[in-house]
Amino acid sequence: MTTSLFMRLRDCFPADMNKTLLETPDGAWFSYRDADEWSSRYAAVLHASGARKGDRVAVQVDKSPAALFLYLGCIRAGLVYLPLNTAYQAQELAYFMQDAAPVVIVCQPDRKSEMEEIAREKSGSVVFTLGDDGQGTIQDAASAQITDFAAIPCADDDLAAILYTSGTTGKPKGAMMTQMNLWSNGRTLVDLWGFTAADTLLHALPIFHTHGLFIACHCVMMSGASMLFLPKFDRAQVIAALPGATVMMGVPTFYVRLLAGEDFNAALVSNMRLFISGSAPLLPETFSAFHARTGHYLLERYGMTEMGMATSNPLDGDRVIHTVGPALPDVEVRVCDDKGQVLPQGEVGVLEARGPNVFAGYWKMPEKTREEFREDGFFITGDIALIDDKGYVHIVGRAKDLVISGGFNIYPKEIETEIDKMAGVLESAVIGVPHPDFGEAVLAIVVLQDGLTLTGPEIISHIKSLMANFKVPKQVFFVDELPRNAMGKVQKNALRDQFGGVF
Ligand code: ATP
Ligand code: MG
Repeated sequence: MTTSLFMRLRDCFPADMNKTLLETPDGAWFSYRDADEWSSRYAAVLHASGARKGDRVAVQVDKSPAALFLYLGCIRAGLVYLPLNTAYQAQELAYFMQDAAPVVIVCQPDRKSEMEEIAREKSGSVVFTLGDDGQGTIQDAASAQITDFAAIPCADDDLAAILYTSGTTGKPKGAMMTQMNLWSNGRTLVDLWGFTAADTLLHALPIFHTHGLFIACHCVMMSGASMLFLPKFDRAQVIAALPGATVMMGVPTFYVRLLAGEDFNAALVSNMRLFISGSAPLLPETFSAFHARTGHYLLERYGMTEMGMATSNPLDGDRVIHTVGPALPDVEVRVCDDKGQVLPQGEVGVLEARGPNVFAGYWKMPEKTREEFREDGFFITGDIALIDDKGYVHIVGRAKDLVISGGFNIYPKEIETEIDKMAGVLESAVIGVPHPDFGEAVLAIVVLQDGLTLTGPEIISHIKSLMANFKVPKQVFFVDELPRNAMGKVQKNALRDQFGGVF
């Protein structure tokens, strides 16, 4: 046992350690040597604070190069990195801290006293700060530390991180990611997406989530590439950065927002070789509009906090609209019924996955973990899907969003797709809400395009002409925008809360 995720990652760093790892819009840049030295300093601070192999380090800070180096410091010291969405407030944080019992917490400077109180009551953690400018008490402590902290060896199944899921369908769950989960998925993706040292990734995602942290940063560091590290998605900043990038990873809303202005066009992205989309469903209209505007087919892929990436459309070969591509080479996927019986090819059921990328279970939730795994090691994703005759996976929706009305199963996406095709509709969400006769009734929540009009009865009669009666929305509500979280996911829970009392 003389290796670890960190050691493997560092072995991928370029021979020329002065090469740029990341550059920020304000002109600051950091080399691979900076990443190596700062990760050492942070590892030393954490170690000096009493954190030992397997201990958790909870981090709720703004995105910055220092935050990335802090992640590297954690894994260098054999610690378990636990990033938290900056949107979480005191009550939620109290739950996470009690649940995870981190030895060290790093928070935004202006939330220090709030966090100290939580730590005092819930976890007894040492609290440090780190601001979006890279300054804070952990930075002060790190400045004086050594730059050659000896990386702590770890076994493949030792934990490297606990990532809480996005909380789209309920309370976030802490997914335990092992050293091998993260290493294997990163390696696979570097090959699959053709990352090389010549790449520059445009990074505008948050780094408290698997997409921006592991998928994006690991692909870069494991190929010795560089990245343009934006604090967040700011359209003007992204437009300014695109000519200098070769790859972009984003959630679908990033691409929708880019397409909203004519300054996003083929000339602007002539240096780009690949745009990747995921974390939420990509609308077919976005895929088509993107191709028409730029000549690029967006590469859609599918994954979860619990397993990183599981399927991807190909780099070379057909990127098929409305699909998330075949399973990664080292991942197996299958579609089953509720009992785990594999369904005939082409049928719709629950997607299950197995591979070195699949997590070790939910932190402190052995019951929940048992429920989500089959005996043969397949993880029950909770996503409804079908696999076509070419092996491409089509995500149909989430099991939790399935509507059961009058005893019939209704997949919201089927109805959303038809509503979205109507002239004047920007997007829609179909939900089930309690109904005295039917158990649940179908409602459509619709966002219209600017300046266009359409009525509820028009939508209802259109769907009636296409689909069985039980699928037709009983009512249509119009809203200015759908509620979305930081990863661009529509929060159907919030819609069900808002419209749950209409019958
Ligand atoms: P929670 O599990 O807490 O309810 P969440 O499932 O949204 O939240 P994540 O792990 O961030 O948390 O998201 C994984 C989910 O995102 C998948 O299960 C799937 O439903 C959705 N997803 C990811 N990529 C795609 C995609 N390309 N198309 C459709 N859905 C996707
Ligand atoms: Mg989930």
